[in-house]
Amino acid sequence: MSMIKTKDEIEILREGGRRLSAALDAVIKEVHPGVRTDVLDRVAYEYIVAAGDKPAFLKYKPYGANRPFPATLCVSVNDEVVHGIPNEHPKTLKEGDIVGLDIGLIHRGLVVDMARTVAVGKVDTKSRKLMQATEEALMRGISEAEGGNRVGDISAAIEDYAAPLLYGIVEELGGHGVGHFVHEEPYIPNVGTKGKGVRLLPNMVLAIEPMLNEGSRHIKLASDGYTWKTVDGKRSAHFEHTIVITEGKPEILTK
Ligand code: MG
Repeated sequence: MSMIKTKDEIEILREGGRRLSAALDAVIKEVHPGVRTDVLDRVAYEYIVAAGDKPAFLKYKPYGANRPFPATLCVSVNDEVVHGIPNEHPKTLKEGDIVGLDIGLIHRGLVVDMARTVAVGKVDTKSRKLMQATEEALMRGISEAEGGNRVGDISAAIEDYAAPLLYGIVEELGGHGVGHFVHEEPYIPNVGTKGKGVRLLPNMVLAIEPMLNEGSRHIKLASDGYTWKTVDGKRSAHFEHTIVITEGKPEILTK
């Protein structure tokens, strides 16, 4: 299928984006010390289904995975980078934790995807800075996602912002086209070179998602087959938006 979406598809994705962002807000309202990760997953599931939509990650089997993902929400705590499973061995969140919440939904057959990392109660300055920097890295990447630019312009904007701050930039995972499927072409690395890669054209729909580590960039896959963790045990943060490429600055669908 084409990387370019039709006007009608973009209208559906726009509504999906609004609904997804509201679902994530509903989950974030429940984040506090003492809450269990399976409870957050339940909130996400109920919210999406009540609106008449489908969770995009539940039962989705990504390329290379040996089983489908068992939850609506990915919940990744502290040194977990992404794709933490909230409902198999639920964790109880503690004051001072940071928690990555990644969620996707299917509205009228089309997929949108987003993530935020939030504080559980009061967190230390180092963690707050890590989260702020990761969100800023996402915004820097988005601002380079203009029609006529290339994927490498997004990647370089993220890298050029995050590398001088001495954060580890995760290279094994990155952004992607989205809409007809959870993962589509083009792949969008979080490091790269300006002017290289696939050209961005109006009405492409992309999920951009930097992951920054407090320590080294290296990550490892846990034995559950999904949860990525930092090798050094230091914390990691993740922010993601689904956007539409236009002639100028992109439109963020998951505000
Ligand atoms: Mg994604």
